[in-house]
Formats: sequence, C-alpha cells, structure tokens
Amino acid sequence: MLCLLVKVPVAVLDQETFEYLLPLAYQWARNIENFVLQHGSPLPRRQVTDARQVGVKDICRVRVLAVDRMPLPGEPELAEASRRTQIITDSCRAIAIGHAVVIRADAWGDRELFLHQLVHVAQCERSGGLEQWVRHYLVDRTNCPNFTIGALEEEARRIAREICAAEAAAESFFL
Ligand SMILES: [Zn+2]
Repeated sequence: MLCLLVKVPVAVLDQETFEYLLPLAYQWARNIENFVLQHGSPLPRRQVTDARQVGVKDICRVRVLAVDRMPLPGEPELAEASRRTQIITDSCRAIAIGHAVVIRADAWGDRELFLHQLVHVAQCERSGGLEQWVRHYLVDRTNCPNFTIGALEEEARRIAREICAAEAAAESFFL
C-alpha cells in the first residue's frame, strides 16, 4: 500500500476476493497505525509546515517511524494478494496509514517522498477515517484502468512534485 515509484501493471482482484480481503487489510493497517502512533516521533519542525501546506488538519497526531525494512502483511492470503497487486512490497520506501508515516531509514532525507506521505495523511482525514480510506485506496488501486495507479496516488505524487519543483525554482531565483 502507498508505494512510491513502483510502476507495475496492477492485477485486478475479483470482487469476492476483494471483499474478503478488505477487513484483513484494514486490520493490518490499523495495527500498523497503532504501533506507529505509540512508538513513532512527532513530525520534525519542517514537516509540520509541510503537513499544514498539504492540508493535514490534526498535525499533532501524526507520528513518524524509521524502519530498516517495510512491515508487510503476515496473514498468508493478504500477503499473497499484496505481492500479486504490488500494492505493498519490499521495495516500498515509505507508507502512510492514517496518521502514521513509516519511512525506511535509507529514505529518511527524501523530501518529496515525505511530502507524498503527508498528502496521504490528509487524504485519510478527508475520507473520514482509516477504514473508509483503506477501502477507497484499495478500490482505486485494484480497479483503475490502463494500469494507472489511481486518483489518490496521482494526487500524492503531483502535490509532492509541485511543492519540490516550486522550491527548487525559488532557490535558483535567489542564487
Ligand atoms: Zn503513495
């Protein structure tokens, strides 16, 4: 889930499998969020400004956890589906689930990646909660035509890229 820069054809899950796996995916997501909310750190100062800019409302609630390896679903059917759809894999560098942001330690300084995750946090708030957001995100990712990545991913990528590009332009102006 929430993988950045993984461009692979998205395998479509049939509706029955999807409905069966959805509660498992939500449970997994909620466990990750709870763990990170307990053990993560508050946003660094610069990211507080970023969070405000991308529309996160409950900024104080956001927690960030650096990890050596991405947590992957352990439940066999969910693990298999996530491998098949490539929604979350070993190559993910960061994920955002609810108010939890998990970043691989080797990607910690990647500003665009961090902004991308903060957009997902804002999306989750707008969805009305983690359960709704997980459904929305997974419907998006498993149904999108033409091997695109879905509207939520598109938005996260676009906003993060635009903010970084605007900053680069401003910096070069003052050089
Ligand atoms: Zn994403």
